[in-house]
Amino acid sequence: MEIKITKTNNPKAKPADESKLGFGKIFTDHMFMMDYTAEEGWHDARIVPFDYIPIHPASTVLHYGTEIFEGLKAYRTVNGDIRMFRPMENIRRMNNSAERLCLPQIDEKDALQILDTIVEMEKDWVPHSEGTSLYLRPFMYGNEPHLGVHAVKIATFVVICSPVGAYYAEGINPVKIAIESEDVRAVKGGTGYAKCGGNYAASLRAGEKAEEKGFTQVLWLDGVHRKYIEEVGSMNVMFKIDGEIVTPELTGSVLPGVTRKSCVELLKEKGYKVSERLISVDELFDAARAGKLEEAWGTGTAAVVSPIGWLSYKGEEFEVNGGKIGDVTQALYDELTGIQWGKIEDKHNWCHKVC
Ligand SMILES: *Cc1c(COP(=O)(O)O)cnc(C)c1O
Repeated sequence: MEIKITKTNNPKAKPADESKLGFGKIFTDHMFMMDYTAEEGWHDARIVPFDYIPIHPASTVLHYGTEIFEGLKAYRTVNGDIRMFRPMENIRRMNNSAERLCLPQIDEKDALQILDTIVEMEKDWVPHSEGTSLYLRPFMYGNEPHLGVHAVKIATFVVICSPVGAYYAEGINPVKIAIESEDVRAVKGGTGYAKCGGNYAASLRAGEKAEEKGFTQVLWLDGVHRKYIEEVGSMNVMFKIDGEIVTPELTGSVLPGVTRKSCVELLKEKGYKVSERLISVDELFDAARAGKLEEAWGTGTAAVVSPIGWLSYKGEEFEVNGGKIGDVTQALYDELTGIQWGKIEDKHNWCHKVC
């Protein structure tokens, strides 16, 4: 695929203090864009200076939420290469999300070329300090300039890049999680497995309420029985119960995380019994009461793993592992980040070298 490149005449200064990067606040000099119409397919692939995007006031996305996104990182490894972690997983998931929201597919090879090209172009923006990375945010939206409710025939695909700080600048501290009993994030048959903006819109209210009460995130229960554990905030969730690793199975309302998949593969290799199955909140609390809930953690690209130290449900609170990070959680963090930063041999060929 041909990508037309227009370089900025006003390059920004790179952030001088990498300890203050935060997440998703700073953007690089360029972005990728291309347009789709049913007649022409994807066309006009281009890298342009980072800027506002003009949008028609009737554009489908503004009214009907036709939007999907992805999130992955490019890392500067210890020997100076720039690599992405399992980008094909994100590309395939994006196409699955697109299918669910009636947005167009992108050829897998083209998508990888797009990511390679923008990352190579912005390589000086990949930060150098330990734990930092260049976060890539591909997204696609329906862009029909009229209000009729139909599957879109016009769409736009964009990739923006943001240098992000070390998630655990102050050490890995376990978080407090509230199990949500009113709102639900997704239901089977809905869009839970798609990475779409609408799922986030539906999740914000519970997140805000939990934060007001001093919790970091909510743990979602399934929308039908209000009983089976699904995910935690914008991460998948795993538990170690009496030696067994349990993570909710992908029933259609759970987002199939790349980090989740990688953790399952690593844990199985280490010889753990890993069960992808339904797990009810009652089973979890029974295990906690019996002293068998040994560890709990979330998994996602941003944090890699996030240990859960406290769980609260309908007024009852449980401490997990004395509120400290557990051995399995720590080992997963060390191994995954070690592979990503090139400190540990990448036996699975998960890392994709850009330059
Ligand atoms: C992106 C996301 C995850 C984590 O997926 P990764 O591929 O591991 O980053 C989990 N849950 C939700 C709702 C998400 O949007």
